[in-house]
Amino acid sequence: MSKLVPPYGSPELKPLLLEGQANREEAAKAQGLKKIPLTSRETSDLVMMGIGAFTPLDGFMGKDDWQSCCDDYKLPSKKGLFWPIPITLSADEDLAKSIRQAEEVALWDTETDALVGTMKVDEKYMIDKEHECKQVFRTNDPRHPGVQKVMEQGPVNLAGPVKVLSESYFPKEFKGIYQRPADARKLFADRGWSTVATLQLRNPMHNSHAYLAWIAIEVCDGVYVHQSLGKLKPGDIPADVRVKAIDALVNKYFRKERVIQGGHPFEMRYAGPREALLHATFRQNYGCSHLIVGRDHAGVGDYYGPFDSQKIFNEIPPGALATKPLCLDWTFYCYECGSMASMKTCPHESKAVIDGNGNYKGGARLLLSGSLLRKLMSEGKPVPAEFSKPEVIAILKQYYDTLQEEDKVEVKLHRAATGEMKPR
Ligand SMILES: [Zn+2]
Repeated sequence: MSKLVPPYGSPELKPLLLEGQANREEAAKAQGLKKIPLTSRETSDLVMMGIGAFTPLDGFMGKDDWQSCCDDYKLPSKKGLFWPIPITLSADEDLAKSIRQAEEVALWDTETDALVGTMKVDEKYMIDKEHECKQVFRTNDPRHPGVQKVMEQGPVNLAGPVKVLSESYFPKEFKGIYQRPADARKLFADRGWSTVATLQLRNPMHNSHAYLAWIAIEVCDGVYVHQSLGKLKPGDIPADVRVKAIDALVNKYFRKERVIQGGHPFEMRYAGPREALLHATFRQNYGCSHLIVGRDHAGVGDYYGPFDSQKIFNEIPPGALATKPLCLDWTFYCYECGSMASMKTCPHESKAVIDGNGNYKGGARLLLSGSLLRKLMSEGKPVPAEFSKPEVIAILKQYYDTLQEEDKVEVKLHRAATGEMKPR
């Protein structure tokens, strides 16, 4: 009997990926079906359903579920089950018109130009995109990367049960890091863990992130360092570089029996609070009892308050999620405290000053600006070890050195590192 949290909304994980002979037969049948092109987000969602990470979904959502998910966080088709973000598939108008009711279609990943699944189209419907954006993202600003994708998707949504035929490029490209929920559960169970905290990462791991993970280990059996392997917004550090940098840190500064690394195919929406809820929902399927929710979890720009993603967990029905948030404050190194600290513990409000040669010149809290960090790296100057381990910096430096000048301007490090402190 597993000591881990149960899968979400179902006694068992429900992976929709067909294996072996069933997969081959369905793929052969799909050759004769109409192709529906999928965006990278849609492919990611399909793979999430394939591996059981979106248990108990059976396919892309119909209109009732879409509407109710947007407005009330509920799925009528699942007896009102709590679900925070719509999972939908879009198509352009002509293509949608050509599809008959209950027609089976082939789902085609446009990134890899390959078949990834099939779907029986039960329903075609139009949505009010602005409404979805206002509900899910709390904004319809077209500069928001999540809003942008919704506004750019086709005008008609197609809904119905899916059969998943491929995990796309994830298993091959991220061999050793990409995991299905069942894999992660087995790893946790083998170690005898019952409480597991996930550290969701889409950035390299500097000391402030490591500190969150160490705190989690103090209160749980172990930490699951779980990276987004789905497509990110332009300017984020690519996943392969990130995997290397995180590996370097974890291998040297964590007790092996207390940490497991993994990656998931989910594509970030940058929906802040709503996305934090979805992160917890699918982490329940991965067997994690806790989700570390730090400052501005899953946010972007200034669209969300720094702790909105923590507060929202108090606004959902109690018991909706077995996976609980582990709410932690903004963390940093403090020269006055002489240790890692957080806004909750450290009384020293001054900012540490680091000169252009990477030397400490006074002050308390170390919050390097992204531009100073890049300047130090590009000139080969030392980055303070209190901010990030040298092994991490070496890998990032290698990556920055390969970029063209114009790309460098685009690449933004995590805002937690920039020192742009928001008013609280
Ligand atoms: Zn302090």
